[in-house]
Amino acid sequence: MIFTPTLVGGESIVRLLNGRTFESEFNVPHAARAIVVGSGIAGLSAAIALLKAGCEVALYERSAVLTEVGAGISLWSNALRSLDKIGAGEAVRKHIEPLRTSEFRGKEGRVVAVSFPASALEEALGSHPVIGMIHRARLVESLASCLPLGVARYGYEAIAIQDKGSQVEVEFANGHSDVADVLIGADGIHSRTRSLLWNEPPPRYSGYTCFRGITEAPACIESGYLGEWWGRGRRVGITTLKERKVYWWATVNAPQGTRTSDKRDRLCNEFRTWAEPVPELFRTTPEDAIIQNDVIDRRPSRNWYRGNCLLIGDAAHPVTPNLGQGGCMAIEDASCLRHLFSMQLPVDQLLPRFLELRKKRVAAINLDSYRLGKVGQWSGSVACWIRDNTARSLLPIFGPSMLIKHSRNVDRFLVE
Ligand SMILES: Cc1cc2nc3c(=O)[nH]c(=O)nc-3n(C[C@H](O)[C@H](O)[C@H](O)COP(=O)(O)OP(=O)(O)OC[C@H]3O[C@@H](n4cnc5c(N)ncnc54)[C@H](O)[C@@H]3O)c2cc1C
Repeated sequence: MIFTPTLVGGESIVRLLNGRTFESEFNVPHAARAIVVGSGIAGLSAAIALLKAGCEVALYERSAVLTEVGAGISLWSNALRSLDKIGAGEAVRKHIEPLRTSEFRGKEGRVVAVSFPASALEEALGSHPVIGMIHRARLVESLASCLPLGVARYGYEAIAIQDKGSQVEVEFANGHSDVADVLIGADGIHSRTRSLLWNEPPPRYSGYTCFRGITEAPACIESGYLGEWWGRGRRVGITTLKERKVYWWATVNAPQGTRTSDKRDRLCNEFRTWAEPVPELFRTTPEDAIIQNDVIDRRPSRNWYRGNCLLIGDAAHPVTPNLGQGGCMAIEDASCLRHLFSMQLPVDQLLPRFLELRKKRVAAINLDSYRLGKVGQWSGSVACWIRDNTARSLLPIFGPSMLIKHSRNVDRFLVE
């Protein structure tokens, strides 16, 4: 496996390449030939799942090598169980940091509520851990390591799709083209595949922008910590990764597209009155390791498939990151694909069935995540006072059930 360059404290993008052999668990001729576009969390998980289901798979990624941003990501128990189902659980689990405690604090550092009795939740969910944190590069690297050499091809940007009746042809910017029984569009929130299938408005802006980074853990942060610190129109999240690293994120209300030349200066200034370790996290993160994204999603829609093309992950159903479930939903999608393809359903029955199985679950995450973000970004002093006091009394009572609601594995294809 080749891995370049620095993961932490360097660039905010990391690049990886890999290859390994893989065996389908179904000893049958190929159920179908699938083209997967995009090698993010969704595309890699889908390629693994489809191979498991006995499909022949070609995965095409526009970047020249496997890349991910230098940040962390939470994998909830629903995602971890789905990874187990597609056969990637072992590869991923060894890189996760299980979270043990969770709390809300005010900007001055006062604890508002402790909401996460990890052991009780693990018992209720029947899985360990409830949340695992992982470096994104480690996640995609582990997923890619589950694919045989030659399945993933880099430097292929999908630019056109042709409906060929029972098959679909995909054309790439480098002149290559390929034909398959089904196209899985896993090309992210700004999906080219999506725009080739439907003429839709751009994703919706939430009203806030998000900065992320990874740094050394300050002495006061214990391994397994998850904290959300809420202020007025600003929030900070702090979680730990393996090797005594901290992954932090910070949201700020701002017009869409607001950028500054020095992100670290901006953060140090915006959060200068916050209690430590918040300012320390920003001070100790190199400027080029800070990533900024405006927080966007799409309202739930039924535009997930057309002809022999199916969208998954952020291409189908992007959500705001407030519940930390967007990537988890992409992994669940893959587990669902494995379930449906292993039933050897014809593609014209399989794609509507996928929508039917997934749409309610994903719409609930979309809505709850959007609402949570709206409340979290309130900036009025009275509204924030009411919010924080409500959280103080209600979170200990309702917090666990809210967490269980989203991370319980209710879908048949996850538990069977
Ligand atoms: C600030 C923030 C924090 C988040 N935190 C969490 C979290 O803690 N937990 C969680 O579960 N989720 C989280 N998410 C959501 C999560 O990151 C996404 O849901 C997930 O990355 C989506 O994966 P994807 O594979 O669908 O898309 P992407 O990761 O965007 O991958 C798409 C891939 O397709 C490729 N591509 C694009 N166009 C083409 C083309 N035309 N041809 C070929 N390839 C193409 C791209 O290069 C890319 O590799 C967060 C999101 C944000 C913004």
